[in-house]
Amino acid sequence: MQLDSFTVLAAGFALLALLGSIFVFLWARERNSPWLLWWGVPFIVGGAALAFYMRPGWDSDFASILIGNILRMVAVGCLWQGVRLFQRRPLLLWPLAAVAIGWIGLCFVPAFMASMLTRIVVVSLVNALFCGLAAHELWRDRSEQLPSRRPTMLVFVSFTMLMLLRAGVAAFTPFPVGELAANSAWLGFFMFLVFAHCTFAAVLFIAMTNERREAEQRSFAMSDPLTGLLNRRGFADFADRMNRRNAGSRSGLSLMVLDLDHFKSINDRFGHEVGDRILKAFAEVSESSVRTTDQLFRMGGEEFCFVLPDTSLADAIKVAERVRISFEAGTIEAGEGIARATVSIGIAATQHHVGMDVLLAAADAAVYEAKARGRNRIVVAEPATLRQSRVADIVAPERRSA
Ligand code: GH3
Ligand code: MG
Ligand code: MG
Repeated sequence: MQLDSFTVLAAGFALLALLGSIFVFLWARERNSPWLLWWGVPFIVGGAALAFYMRPGWDSDFASILIGNILRMVAVGCLWQGVRLFQRRPLLLWPLAAVAIGWIGLCFVPAFMASMLTRIVVVSLVNALFCGLAAHELWRDRSEQLPSRRPTMLVFVSFTMLMLLRAGVAAFTPFPVGELAANSAWLGFFMFLVFAHCTFAAVLFIAMTNERREAEQRSFAMSDPLTGLLNRRGFADFADRMNRRNAGSRSGLSLMVLDLDHFKSINDRFGHEVGDRILKAFAEVSESSVRTTDQLFRMGGEEFCFVLPDTSLADAIKVAERVRISFEAGTIEAGEGIARATVSIGIAATQHHVGMDVLLAAADAAVYEAKARGRNRIVVAEPATLRQSRVADIVAPERRSA
């Protein structure tokens, strides 16, 4: 069986219209993802532009050449704009307008209208440029971890190469690849390549959008709204990744548990709102006392946990001391006077592969000991006792300042 051109084009139109409608439907449900619309409309417009090929005498028809080609090129340009929006960059519409205006101008040049080869080469190069720019857009900012970003980029790269190839062989190949007389086998082959790229791109666009939404939901579920730090669920996720990476190296891994002192009586005296401000102030003091590679968690209530990768015990003690002193020095204006608070810190450090739960339990026991010893101090769980989580060494403020 051989398909006639009309059937191939009609099937292509149906596929593109369906893909486009799916994106418009998704966008209507999720208006804060405008890129879905910028990906949906070009599929529909690109599909509709195929209708110009279905007209009898399309190859010498002024409207088909003028409008059909503008629609196809602008549709590809819109896919690029959708990628820009997805990558959180502003729309850049002047290149699309320039292409449309330039094409209208060329259509009034008789030599251009007489040469199908020139027209195919120009359209192919414009489409290659837009797809290349879309691929570049996906490549330049990869900070957000999305597994489908790279395959999407590859689809754009592949389409760019296809269009460049088409421009190169247009003089020797039948339409729609080149300028020689149309041939339904070539039409079927070319349309298959175009539709395969469109389908892959559409599936990957949806996958990227879903991956971003899931990541945002995960990060929302893992963050503490009061302090902006990661919460206990965030710690569990982080600990899981650290355990799988077999964290703990020769340069060391330190974990500290920090618990604000007498926080209940601060709340009772100054009120819950002042308590909240103290918690926020503590998070700010802590963030300014650690490196960006250190991870801070609010484990719940007035209890925090900091993980310091590649940090020896000696360095961890310095960080803890910086946090303790800065926090002690800070004050919060409360209606009934000045509120101030202190923190007790337990540290567990290791240079071996120790599970994060073991480190946490050891640091927890150490902070418990710090409370027992009078609060506002740092207690270290000795590495050798980590397995039993027994507290060994005690670093009291008076000893350190001696
Ligand atoms: P200790 O020095 O032994 O740690 O005594 P503490 O009073 O700090 O410890 P306790 O566990 O008895 O009390 C913790 C208090 O923290 C009780 C609770 O009201 C308060 N708290 C927990 N979460 C929040 C919060 O989100 N905001 C405020 N303002 N207070 C909180
Ligand atoms: Mg407390
Ligand atoms: Mg507590």
